[in-house]
Amino acid sequence: MSKGTKVPGYMQGKGSRNPRGIIGDREIRYKCSLQNTILDVLRGRPGWQEVPGDGDWDFYWCDREWLAQNYDTMFLYEHQKILHFRNHYELTRKNLMVKNLKRLKKQTEREQGKAEGLSFEFFPTTYELPSEYHIFVEEFKKNPGIIWIMKPAARAQGRGIFLFRRLKDITDWKKGEYQPLSDPNREVPETYVVQRYIENPYLIGGRKFDVRVYVLVVSYNPLKVWLYRSGFARFSNTRFSLDSIEDTYVHLTNVAVQKNAPDYDPDKGCKWSTQQLRKYLAAKHGVEAVKKAFKGIDNIIIKSLQSVQKIIINDKHCFEMYGYDVLFDSDLKPWLIEINASPSLTASGKEDYDLKFGLLNDLLNVLDLENRLTGKEKRIGGWDLLWEDGPILADDGNMECTPNGTTASIPNSFLGCHNDRKRQLRELYTAAQSIKKS
Ligand code: ADP
Repeated sequence: MSKGTKVPGYMQGKGSRNPRGIIGDREIRYKCSLQNTILDVLRGRPGWQEVPGDGDWDFYWCDREWLAQNYDTMFLYEHQKILHFRNHYELTRKNLMVKNLKRLKKQTEREQGKAEGLSFEFFPTTYELPSEYHIFVEEFKKNPGIIWIMKPAARAQGRGIFLFRRLKDITDWKKGEYQPLSDPNREVPETYVVQRYIENPYLIGGRKFDVRVYVLVVSYNPLKVWLYRSGFARFSNTRFSLDSIEDTYVHLTNVAVQKNAPDYDPDKGCKWSTQQLRKYLAAKHGVEAVKKAFKGIDNIIIKSLQSVQKIIINDKHCFEMYGYDVLFDSDLKPWLIEINASPSLTASGKEDYDLKFGLLNDLLNVLDLENRLTGKEKRIGGWDLLWEDGPILADDGNMECTPNGTTASIPNSFLGCHNDRKRQLRELYTAAQSIKKS
């Protein structure tokens, strides 16, 4: 659809509408920009029908480019749902994410004191280049010998990233990258972030990994956040060492990077489920240490979303499924590496396919275009409600993760816990039916 064209949306008058503004007695019409697991999920969903071309839709899993081109001119009816908030990049561009986090940290320190500000110590020291080059150089000089990582602010999959120890390495790079103004054919310099490299990652089998965490935001005002209990850890293929900082197979855990490693085994892959990881860590360090580490991830999620809560254009038609990348250091402290608004939905194997299929199917259950739920649920399939204008506490019957000393006041957060999503959904729908009937 070209820029400026109105998106027609669902024709009012067709089909009935219930008080929550959701389609009643006809099929749900969807569009999808991607050709991967999400399309399989949509095609397999009873009562949902794909819309060809520019036809009217109720649900659109669109790409970010489409949204950027059409959002400002489109009109949406009450019930329509579309992926992405208009300015999602406030959180998903590496430089903007850090800028927003720094701002909320400062504000928190000002209003609630320095101690509260410590709860923001989950992102490594970061500067935007070229704009903060001079502040970076000061910081660099204060910490001789440490390793820094340079990352293009808007690229993904490990592209353009390198590590360095000497300022000279960056001045050489600067010459190459920042000469554009003397070269009329080049555009303005690309924005980078330079970030303190986490030199002591938690290692398993001598290898570094990061954890992919799925988070669903259905509203920014009030902030309403769901956390998916399953995810995975992505391992690097090569044993960790600080001797070879130029070796991306050692330092970057992106699958896109690792799959090109010479000894990469596609059958083995480099992934563990988050369940497997949590079990491993609990066996090694005890349940309490792991609970604390995973609670740190909840904090990362909430603080990062709050940092853009007032900036994101809140629109009741929009939702976002973020892929958070989190790295544990050797003290099991979680660090936020980045947040993706289009986490890969292409499966790398059967297990990955099952995870992503379940994740997306459950996401559609949360959005509930079919209007099968009551709207009061705290768990839907593998998604747990983490935040709704404040923290959500777990119900008594929902304590799989806390065999020792469960109380009703534990947070409703179960990342890496057992995910019996199908059974849960069956029970949930039966319960919702009887509540609605009575
Ligand atoms: P991209 O968007 O290109 O994937 P990321 O910021 O996610 O960029 O970085 C790619 C990978 O590099 C991460 O998955 C992680 O393994 C590693 N990495 C990035 N930043 C750091 C850091 N500050 N310390 C340690 N490792 C990092």
